[in-house]
Amino acid sequence: MVLQAAPSGNIEARITSLLARMTLDEKIGQMSQSTSMKTPLSEQIKSEIRSGRWGSFLNAGSPQDRAEAQRIALKESRLGIPLLFGRDVIHGYRTIFPIPLGQSASWDPDLIEQAARIAAHEAFADGIRWTFAPMIDITRDPRWGRVAEGLGEDPYLASRLAVAMIHGFQSDSLSSTGAIAACVKHYVGYGAAEAGREYNSAWIPEGQLREVYLPPFQAASDAGVATLMPGFNALNGVPATGNLFILRKILRGEWNFKGMVVSDYTAIPEMIQHGYAANTTDAARKALLAGVDMEMVSTTYFDHLKTLVEKGVVDRRAIDAAVRNILRLKFQLGLFDQSPPVLVEPLAPEALEIAKRLATESMVLLKNDAHLLPLSKSNGKIAIIGPLADSPVDQMGTWAMDGRASDVQTPLAALREKLGDARVLYSPGLKNSRDLSRDGFKDALQKARMADVILLFLGEEQILSGEAHSRAFLDLPGAQEALVNEIAKLGRPIVTVVLAGRPLTFHETAAKSKAILFGWHPGTMGGPAIADLLFGDAVPSGKLTITFPRTVGQVPIYYAQLPTGRPASSSDLGIPLGNPVNPVGYTSKYVDVDFTPEFPFGYGLSYSDFKYSNLRVSAPRLRMGGLLTLAADVTNTGAVAADEIVQLYVHEDVASVSRPIRQLKGARRLHLRPGETVNVQFPVTTKDLAFYNQKMQLVTEPGTFHFWIAPDSVRGMEGKFIVE
Ligand code: BGC
Repeated sequence: MVLQAAPSGNIEARITSLLARMTLDEKIGQMSQSTSMKTPLSEQIKSEIRSGRWGSFLNAGSPQDRAEAQRIALKESRLGIPLLFGRDVIHGYRTIFPIPLGQSASWDPDLIEQAARIAAHEAFADGIRWTFAPMIDITRDPRWGRVAEGLGEDPYLASRLAVAMIHGFQSDSLSSTGAIAACVKHYVGYGAAEAGREYNSAWIPEGQLREVYLPPFQAASDAGVATLMPGFNALNGVPATGNLFILRKILRGEWNFKGMVVSDYTAIPEMIQHGYAANTTDAARKALLAGVDMEMVSTTYFDHLKTLVEKGVVDRRAIDAAVRNILRLKFQLGLFDQSPPVLVEPLAPEALEIAKRLATESMVLLKNDAHLLPLSKSNGKIAIIGPLADSPVDQMGTWAMDGRASDVQTPLAALREKLGDARVLYSPGLKNSRDLSRDGFKDALQKARMADVILLFLGEEQILSGEAHSRAFLDLPGAQEALVNEIAKLGRPIVTVVLAGRPLTFHETAAKSKAILFGWHPGTMGGPAIADLLFGDAVPSGKLTITFPRTVGQVPIYYAQLPTGRPASSSDLGIPLGNPVNPVGYTSKYVDVDFTPEFPFGYGLSYSDFKYSNLRVSAPRLRMGGLLTLAADVTNTGAVAADEIVQLYVHEDVASVSRPIRQLKGARRLHLRPGETVNVQFPVTTKDLAFYNQKMQLVTEPGTFHFWIAPDSVRGMEGKFIVE
């Protein structure tokens, strides 16, 4: 069945006429979102819907309840205003894709868009027309549990992937079949929570805010994202929910954002705990003033806005403006005019195929000594050990409330299928990733002893990342390291697959493993993707979008740092024992650990090799307003067809504000047959080289630019050009 599109009649005129007929109570009802819709629908909620008490429900009700509630709203409420059902469809609905951080490691906007489209279709079929995704907080602190939900540390890449996801969710038109409204969150700086502790304050100087944290939101706004959610955090002392600077001046003023703003879960009254609002009345007033159109879960709007209007404290026009934004979205989605949703088969073969491809592309090969991988499909016994080899819920990761464990294909199942039961020996060793008991070691060692190769499945359970799940330690939890120590004593080759929601520090385990595949929480089809990668039916191609520290003490660590006055060099790696302080040199480093990361941004290995050559600049000098092309040849010099993610970085030598040592400005995923060469070209305009000067103006300053066409953020071919 094909749904009707929204009638083309002028939406603004329809809103105006509707607003003229609405009571103040009905308007404030539209501004209120609730979780209170339970299964089965209570008589109370039905009567509240009839009276126009709620504009939206989140994460509530069964598909049948939603259909019935919508019928009541459309047919039995005074003005027939439809409800808007929102849900956290973060990385899939029934088909679960890798966590967003994993998706970002694919550097593949097209595939990410397809995944979001599938999630939208599956959610749409169940009556969901709004998702609270994508989360586009720039994340540079792996202690913060929500790094799992984001798109990594780099604003350029996060912006590109965010736009792809938004387009996937929203399609070309919100009224089309299968389209759902996206919501970018959490505006802004939530990912910069001090000490990586959830809900903590963020202090971000305006230059950094504009250059690092705001660009993904601006890109989303420009791309027509339907809604936006301010964060729980205080930014520079002012809670985001009541922050006029970010919500009024930048979002609505500078960017002319036309969408709807929804608060985060009870974030409006939380301004009281922040010490920014005196009471719920004050909180409601401040949020509305900042331009928060809809309140999630708490009821300060419903409880106080009417009185505030009647007392003349709040202008009626502020209410109308908010309701207009809400009704516009409902019209755009076609909710006023729609017939019931189409049926979509969840977990359709194409959905599973995309889930497998995205999982495959997202995984990062961190180490592969002596080309141990891929393993031979035809001979040898394989021991599969570890708490995450067969743990469907953990494999789905955070925010997978509509995913079902029974749909998940685990690595154990996939490897048994690929190799046959007879070759696979399995022992979890630990009950879960935090298990401290060594009771399972004996069996694990026994199985390991019988194998030619040992596959370890280690990492983090899904509960260790996501909202409110910050960690102060980044190592493998529980007795996992101890298990690795025991297994390593057997002297058999070890391949470690890490499944986790964030970068982890696992130096010792890495040293004991011949190969390491970092798989994130890869979702429904993670198991088959891993099996294909380990046994050469697929070639690893993912690259890190967040820096992996050697130890938590290096955090925050990210590639686009500013240079220091005393940069460390490779001679500063490792401090010789017994030396007096002087010879270590006064450079920017640590005396107890290398200053470099364990694995840098952009890094990832392949089963093939790539040669970069023939670096070219289309012209040595670039006029302001002009364009030049930076190019290099990339050749697959290995024996297998493989993908390579080619990256472009730039650095301006001298500017009125010190520039990052490297900044990503372009990226391309190439597929190359053995021996094939592709000439990769990156067009660069002077606008691409702009930054915020000390007066917060976006400028490109003339000067010498270095650039790298590179396999990651530390290597690559280097050239230069001059902007005049
Ligand atoms: C989270 C949001 C989420 C909302 C609704 C909040 O706790 O911060 O990201 O969309 O809950 O579930």
